[in-house]
Amino acid sequence: MKRYVIIGNGTAAVGCVEGIRSIDKAGEITVVSEEKHSVYSRPLISYYLEGKTDLERMKYRGDTFYEDNGCRVIYGKRAASIDPEKKQIVLDDGTPLCYDALCVATGSRPFVPPFEGLQTVENKFPFMTLDDALGLERVLTKQSRVLIVGAGLIGLKCAEGIRDRVKSITVCDLADRVLSSILDVDCAAVVQRHLEENGIRFLLGDTAVRFDKATARMKSGKTVDFDILVLAVGVRANTELVKNAGGDVNRGILINTKCETSLPFVWAAGDCTEGFDASFGGTRVIAILPNAYMQGHTAGGNMAGDCAVFDNAIPMNSIGFFGLHMMTAGAYDGEMTEERSENAVKRFFIKDNLLKGFILIGETERAGIYTSMIREKTQLDTIDFAFARKNASNLIYSQKIRRQKFGNEV
Ligand SMILES: Cc1cc2nc3c(=O)[nH]c(=O)nc-3n(C[C@H](O)[C@H](O)[C@H](O)COP(=O)(O)OP(=O)(O)OC[C@H]3O[C@@H](n4cnc5c(N)ncnc54)[C@H](O)[C@@H]3O)c2cc1C
Repeated sequence: MKRYVIIGNGTAAVGCVEGIRSIDKAGEITVVSEEKHSVYSRPLISYYLEGKTDLERMKYRGDTFYEDNGCRVIYGKRAASIDPEKKQIVLDDGTPLCYDALCVATGSRPFVPPFEGLQTVENKFPFMTLDDALGLERVLTKQSRVLIVGAGLIGLKCAEGIRDRVKSITVCDLADRVLSSILDVDCAAVVQRHLEENGIRFLLGDTAVRFDKATARMKSGKTVDFDILVLAVGVRANTELVKNAGGDVNRGILINTKCETSLPFVWAAGDCTEGFDASFGGTRVIAILPNAYMQGHTAGGNMAGDCAVFDNAIPMNSIGFFGLHMMTAGAYDGEMTEERSENAVKRFFIKDNLLKGFILIGETERAGIYTSMIREKTQLDTIDFAFARKNASNLIYSQKIRRQKFGNEV
């Protein structure tokens, strides 16, 4: 019987279990989970604080998932090393575990810059895990003044989650705009305005350089007094296990489209990896949930002897803050063309007759049409793109292509 070991217990691990079981119903699966919780949906931690979900509904799979899939889960232990020659991992308590096929699905961790005086701050939290959210919840009061360092997705989701539970929220970021990794200047301004209208205060192009207990000294010379500090500056892929075992890593663990690492019998999946990005044709860390699941499933199938390939990943974000929805995808490469209405902005990036990326704010319905145009490399002169910019609809395709793509639905 084949022995499978999965390091990590997030979305990628679940995809891996389901990928293995789609091929091999009998092999022995062991999951090593540093977190003590059963697998939950990480993006829901802010909705938990907001009261829009609870611990039960946050579960990514039901309580009997591992039992139903014949898996053993070792909770509260870290994998400390991989020995690819012995085909063995060793846990932090010294326990060895042998494998025939290993999947590294270790995700990422918050990056905390070496802020001077950080050790003097009593209430400080990253915002990545359920335990982070529970820890933050324990200290929140209606009187809390919260400083969030980082105006990216994680920092802003935290702000949304706690807004109604605290007195004030200030978000600072060295970047000159919110969501700087996925929005351009104009789109970021639309989102920032909406967040400000919902009570969030921003200090952009400025960041904390020194902490003195409950006061942040900013780069600009300003000071901000706070009761709770949330550090959401960025994340780093957990690559060390593979790197220390001699495997190839860059910003993430390097994998091919079969999710194989450079180490024999070792696959990797999810936020810890750097894999193929179909929107620009190179490798990149694509730290989003659907990618983690698909890579995990691909890795699992291949660990069990399949020949699965996942080669159409693109960076994609579908998010909302205080009722304003947005979706971004692909690379912002090439000429920009825009559709604007009172409540929506749509920006498309076009190069070599191909849609390379887009930003949609306020109108995101049926955006899957645009993502499939990127993935399928649809030649724009074969469709009615002038119509497509305004309407995400199957009608952008000619009747012949609609028949090929959607069968009778013409
Ligand atoms: C606040 C927030 C909001 C988000 N919102 C969205 C969203 O709207 N849409 C979206 O697509 N994505 C979103 N994401 C990102 C998404 O959650 C991740 O892409 C996804 O969870 C990655 O899954 P993963 O399995 O690769 O990693 P993780 O879910 O991070 O799981 C990895 C697990 O491995 C464990 N681990 C690490 N090292 C070891 C070790 N040595 N031994 C044992 N265990 C180990 C970790 O403790 C962790 O439990 C959000 C993330 C956050 C934090």
